[in-house]
Amino acid sequence: MEFETLAVHAGRTVDPTSGAVMPPITLSTTFARDGNGGLPSGYIYTRSSNPNRAQLETALAVLEAGKTALAFSSGQAALAAVLHALNPGDHLLYPVDLYHGTRNLIQNEFARWGLRADAVEMSDLEQVAAAWRPETRLIWVETPSNPQLRISDIQAIAELAHAHGAICAVDNTWATPVWQTPLTLGADLVMHSTTKYLGGHSDVLGGAVIWGESLDASFADRLSAWQNLGGAVPSPFDCWLLLRSLATLPYRVRAQTEHAGRITEYLAGRKDVVRIHYPGLREHPAHDLAARQMRGFGGMLSFEVEDAARAMRLASAVRLFLRATSLGGVESLIEHRASVEGPGSPTPAGLLRVSIGLEHPDDLLADLAAALDASV
Ligand SMILES: *Cc1c(COP(=O)(O)O)cnc(C)c1O
Repeated sequence: MEFETLAVHAGRTVDPTSGAVMPPITLSTTFARDGNGGLPSGYIYTRSSNPNRAQLETALAVLEAGKTALAFSSGQAALAAVLHALNPGDHLLYPVDLYHGTRNLIQNEFARWGLRADAVEMSDLEQVAAAWRPETRLIWVETPSNPQLRISDIQAIAELAHAHGAICAVDNTWATPVWQTPLTLGADLVMHSTTKYLGGHSDVLGGAVIWGESLDASFADRLSAWQNLGGAVPSPFDCWLLLRSLATLPYRVRAQTEHAGRITEYLAGRKDVVRIHYPGLREHPAHDLAARQMRGFGGMLSFEVEDAARAMRLASAVRLFLRATSLGGVESLIEHRASVEGPGSPTPAGLLRVSIGLEHPDDLLADLAAALDASV
């Protein structure tokens, strides 16, 4: 079946007791045993598993073309689970440009725990190969990357990883499975902040890890054990909200992508925009690769003006765009990324990151044009 159909139906069944078309929310934390001490429903305790979480995990696995999905209480909890499944002394490679929370998690938290890591320019395969060490166990890919939308070759990186007996893990938060399915390109593991496009309404925090047949079985077992024992699981209501959101995911992302295309076209015609980061533009250094491995270019973009002061004035001058962090919601957001990332941020000072929402693109264009004019 096609993605749109799966997005509506995967993980859902009519409730056998009530006939409810939408799943009931099972808040119970514990599940009764039968006279023989068995568990007729298969559920025992909600930290271990819950009907709403099982529905969500089924849907996530289907949409990412995987076999197993684990839902977490945040994207960070999902990413930390993957790092936690490595051993102290293991080495991983991660991209120079990536979500700053991931960088902080690797550099500040897991370094203390004995995980070794090097940042590489992931869009340059030669640099990736040169950074490889005998103890490299995992390569962490984020494509398009946050916030500079660099594109990395998932298939080539997965081949390199497999040649060294390592795992290729891809944070697919920005592309979404609507436009990119890393497991079909050879990656072993997909991670999500479901807070973003999958949730899509800026009202539920969540994360997920999804894998297929290629993932090392003991690594998969450690991930599953950590979801239960680490305990950073989403509530039944959060799972219910996310499942509800998945039904509209392809239509939301398609519209957001179309609007982002129109915005970048407009920005490309402005002399006061120094640089635009969007893989859909022919001038993007990896446009051809993006066109090959993605089915669409997404609703995220960033652009640079001459300096931080102008960027700040611009972010203050918008009226319709909201000046806030996060992405993937129905409302358009803009933020000055370097100041959010803090001291030491590798992000250019004049860069503004934009998440395109579902407002009419003419209104978004008018707002951006007025803010650019007013901020000179
Ligand atoms: C937001 C984000 C995360 C972190 O997810 P949370 O849900 O905020 O914990 C991880 N990776 C990427 C690419 C993100 O955009």
